[in-house]
Amino acid sequence: MRCPYCRANDDKVVDSRLAEEAGAIRRRRECLACGRRFTTYERVEEVPLLVSKRSGAIEPFDAAKLRSGIERAATGRLDAAAIDQLVADVEEGLRAIGGEVSTDKVGMAVLERLRALDHVAYLRFASVYKGFEDLADFEREVGELQKTTEPKQR
Ligand SMILES: [Zn+2]
Repeated sequence: MRCPYCRANDDKVVDSRLAEEAGAIRRRRECLACGRRFTTYERVEEVPLLVSKRSGAIEPFDAAKLRSGIERAATGRLDAAAIDQLVADVEEGLRAIGGEVSTDKVGMAVLERLRALDHVAYLRFASVYKGFEDLADFEREVGELQKTTEPKQR
């Protein structure tokens, strides 16, 4: 690491600890040339998450955009904290797949979680995401919801 004071390239690490946000390691270093101390932070390089669109275009995953889409569907149904959690869960799940995911995968990941959270928000999101055109589309989706949420027959 180059010393910010004298620009020498020799130093020793005198202390290492986790930074306030646990994603980084803070190191105190001492320059072997001038003896002054400075701090460096080491963090994991984030692997970019890419989303391939139906048009074939590829864009970096945009959590804010996803959040606004979910917000529209969840207005009056889920509070901000629940939406934040949902976005974080979806992003984490997609990052676990890694690399490049399709918009379909993103939409399905959201629907999967909305289904368990709130059926109205689920239907609203599905209507946009799946491009519902008429009442029959809604009825079919509601039918699917009932099928999967009704208690199993004994
Ligand atoms: Zn120095």
